[in-house]
Amino acid sequence: MRSHKTTMVDDVELLPRQDREAALADAGYNVFELASDAVAVDLLTDSGTGTMSNDQWAAMMRGDEAYAGSSSFEDLEAAVADVMGFEHIVPAHQGRGAENVLYGALVDEGDTVLNNAHFDTTRAHVAANGADPVDCPVDGARDPDSDDPFKGDFSVETARRVVEDVGVDNVPAVVLTVTNNSMAGQPVSVENTREVAAFADDIDATFVLDACRFAENAHFVQQREPEFADDTVADIAREQLSYADACVMSGKKDGLVNAGGFVGLREQDDLYEACRQRGILYEGFSTYGGMSGRDMAAFAVGLREAVEPPYVEERVGQVQRLAGMLDDRGVPVYQPAGGHAVYVDANAALPHLPRDEYPGQAFVCELYLEGGVRGVELGRFAFPETERRDLVRLALPRRTYGPDHLEHVADTAAAVCERGDEVTGYEIVDEPEMAELRHFSARLEPLQ
Ligand SMILES: *Cc1c(COP(=O)(O)O)cnc(C)c1O
Repeated sequence: MRSHKTTMVDDVELLPRQDREAALADAGYNVFELASDAVAVDLLTDSGTGTMSNDQWAAMMRGDEAYAGSSSFEDLEAAVADVMGFEHIVPAHQGRGAENVLYGALVDEGDTVLNNAHFDTTRAHVAANGADPVDCPVDGARDPDSDDPFKGDFSVETARRVVEDVGVDNVPAVVLTVTNNSMAGQPVSVENTREVAAFADDIDATFVLDACRFAENAHFVQQREPEFADDTVADIAREQLSYADACVMSGKKDGLVNAGGFVGLREQDDLYEACRQRGILYEGFSTYGGMSGRDMAAFAVGLREAVEPPYVEERVGQVQRLAGMLDDRGVPVYQPAGGHAVYVDANAALPHLPRDEYPGQAFVCELYLEGGVRGVELGRFAFPETERRDLVRLALPRRTYGPDHLEHVADTAAAVCERGDEVTGYEIVDEPEMAELRHFSARLEPLQ
């Protein structure tokens, strides 16, 4: 039984097939260009798309909109200290705002930054500061068949080799992303976190945790790391975060809000002061940072809710259930499923399509045409320069869809697979200048 009931509704409508065909053609076969009204079940992203609780809505009514010294900022700072253990924060409008604040302060031209895997905005901010973002995933992270419980871990061995190459003085930051978004949302163990902390200390680098999905990660640790089987998610989260010098957070993920973010720091030292000044310049004064008072009030409540057992068990459980439903129907999915999304392997689902005809994007288009379901391609179309499988991500917004919606998604994906050999590939007919951003706005056409 779900641990919540619905007291506010938002209608879901499945448009007739011919209207979906027209909408997709108008969108240039790019689902980022679809109006949300034309989508029945929207699994484009779990970022800022979830449902808030009545306690969060109540907190919003009490938001303090003062420019300086807002009590809602104090509430957020207290929640971060209680739940995540960082005593000081520099607020930002969302995660990438916090990344700009922190990496601009930490990183210089010619430096190298190490990460288990850089999330796309993290990579962009490191690169924008003239530094080189290097991924250090463990072996098996890219293997969809390996059932290693912590495929999100950071390879200290790889990182040591990189440090030998670039010189220990040129690595100002070591970042650990939990869960590892770019590696199918796979979790990171606390044991690995301790090793990374020791390594960062060894090379005198700042150890940053990208904490966007810290609660989901803590849930996986409780389930899979024997040392923590009897601990609460709240205690595990605090312990894992305790090893880091700083954290970057997007409220749109485990903050359970629609906007917001911050950099978390331990002391009001030089790094804090540098971040604070950059925050004022780019985000807003240091007691709001681009958030309204009511955003901060809801964020403070959401952080506390994110580590409550019924919430996080249900959240991760729903993702696992969707993966199971797809698997039962013969849809090829990346296993084990991560914390926030299920990844369908489009190369396995549509084996007749060559990779330069974008099988992932073809699968995304078919999901929409078949059942009004919106997913996103994270393969050759989104990442033109990299050799990775053509995965389609189905990300679940928090506390939003029910079991019948998941069933509709699984049935839709199964129907696409069943008549997979009829599915044609696509070509790009118009794309923006910046290759890294092309999947947001490129236009495509189906091949005959
Ligand atoms: C979403 C995300 C970010 C960026 O946060 P935004 O709020 O989308 O700007 C950074 N790192 C990770 C791991 C994320 O998932």
